[in-house]
Amino acid sequence: MIQHRIEVANVHAHLFKVSLRIEAPAANQRISLPVWIPGSYLVREFARHLSPLQARQGKQERPLSQIDKCTWEIACSGKSALEVSYEVYAFDTSVRAAFLDSRRGFFNGTSVFMRVEGREHEPQAVRIGGLPKGWRVFTALPSAQGDAQGTGEHLAPDYDALADHPVELGTPWHGEFTCKGVRHEFVVAGAPEDFDGDKLLADTRKICEAQIAFWHGKRKPPFAHYVFMLNVVEDGYGGLEHRQSTALICSRKDLPRRGRSAPKEGYTTLLGLISHEYFHTWNVKRLRPRAFAPYDYQRENHTRMLWFFEGFTSYYDDQFLLRTRLIDADTYVKLLNKTLNQVQATPGRQRYSLGQASFDAWTRYYRPDENTANATVSYYTKGALVALTLDLQLRQLPAHEGRPPDLDAVMQALWQLGRPIDEGDVAQALALVAGQPPAAWAGDDGISAARPAEAWARTLHRWTETCAELPLEALLSSHGVQWLDKDGSLPQQWGVKLQDAAGGPKVQAVMRGSPAEQWGLSVGDELLALDTWRLRKADDLATWHQAGAAQDVLICRDQRLLTLRKPAQWTAAEAGRSVVLNVAASPSAAMAQRRQRWLGA
Ligand SMILES: [Zn+2]
Repeated sequence: MIQHRIEVANVHAHLFKVSLRIEAPAANQRISLPVWIPGSYLVREFARHLSPLQARQGKQERPLSQIDKCTWEIACSGKSALEVSYEVYAFDTSVRAAFLDSRRGFFNGTSVFMRVEGREHEPQAVRIGGLPKGWRVFTALPSAQGDAQGTGEHLAPDYDALADHPVELGTPWHGEFTCKGVRHEFVVAGAPEDFDGDKLLADTRKICEAQIAFWHGKRKPPFAHYVFMLNVVEDGYGGLEHRQSTALICSRKDLPRRGRSAPKEGYTTLLGLISHEYFHTWNVKRLRPRAFAPYDYQRENHTRMLWFFEGFTSYYDDQFLLRTRLIDADTYVKLLNKTLNQVQATPGRQRYSLGQASFDAWTRYYRPDENTANATVSYYTKGALVALTLDLQLRQLPAHEGRPPDLDAVMQALWQLGRPIDEGDVAQALALVAGQPPAAWAGDDGISAARPAEAWARTLHRWTETCAELPLEALLSSHGVQWLDKDGSLPQQWGVKLQDAAGGPKVQAVMRGSPAEQWGLSVGDELLALDTWRLRKADDLATWHQAGAAQDVLICRDQRLLTLRKPAQWTAAEAGRSVVLNVAASPSAAMAQRRQRWLGA
């Protein structure tokens, strides 16, 4: 057993004091801190927040040598216990690292606990101490001999589990409910006094019940305790999934308050986030990509399948709000519409496949810059549209082995495998659920002779490894949802993203192949005037824009004035279109029936 101890050392300096005890260490014992946290695909080099390490056996100090940015080696003598201690600076307000101030503390194991090389599979005990008066510990980490404050010993079966159980410290709002035999705690830090916790609990419970039933029917899920940790801030959004908990951030204005109606859009977004992270309890934490089994904590772990683990989860998060009637069909279609337009406005979708975008998540999606829209596509949004495409395609097929096919059945078939999966497994599951797909779906005619799993593999390859356009207009229309093309806003038609700044609208991004690119607009340019008319904000563009006329565009770049020319004739950017979806007013009987089955409306 490896023993870790973490103490609140100095709330004003944001310091945790951590120590590690290793019985019978190796002669040259290596220890290391992860460089990333599973679920967030960026090398974050958590070791940069550590103080110099100290090591001793009994009273004897032991020499430490640092091997690389996150690994140390300690020369030990004999088998007496090795103790290592260090401080961790914790002032990261996100869900991905560690935080400590006078009001609350939070940490992920990946930011604070060392991995003892060769001993990763041993049980890992954790003692949490030094808590300010009144503070309590909240975590799904099993308690070995907990006291009321939770400062007793916690026990993880191995390092992976230790790394996967975040801990919240402080005096947050706390509520709980039991659902299908599982104790669900909800911890909310930073909420206003009139926060309506009962509403949040009741709505969350509906989501949990529906998702447990989705994966397990009437049976119990493979965990007995789950903790939602929500940190409420003035302005923020985000979440990170774990096998028995999730850490969330939301904006204060999005919380339900007693005696007021819940903020419609913001609260729906929060419920969508809760639904998303809870769905990950299965999809990615247990149903895992092969590439993550096991995790390598020292470097990037590449997978081409984030479109499945993040994209399909994104499809199901809002689906569960719909299925539990937390939103109606019109709202659901509006959310879908937003996703569709986000993908539409991304020129990168025409050059980067979802597989490539997944593989490059570490260097592209997680390191966004002004060129990101041209240099990748979001595996969240486009992955959700692939899930939608497959779901609607499956729903058009006849019943197979007594069950009408849909994506639910595919997810459930994958779950039944009980092991890490790859693309081939998804194709197999599709074939199992639906049999032979129409040849045209794979984009060529020569596959009718292929076995069902091969035919599905080709279809899947087309949606995820090429940039082929998804056939969503036809699929949505056959499910009673009307698709209308319309022009985007003027900056969008030009192919620029503008942000209103003090001097006027400023160019934030220029879309690849757009008119704006041809006219010579660059990121950072301030748009000053169109012909002789002053532009004060992005909306002024529409005021002074003359369709069919050549116009001068006066800009400021690095303190110099330049005049660019918008010609009389130009073609709007490909990313300058947008779509309006509507639940069709009078669909055919077949469409209405399909829509009823899909949207319940
Ligand atoms: Zn996710």
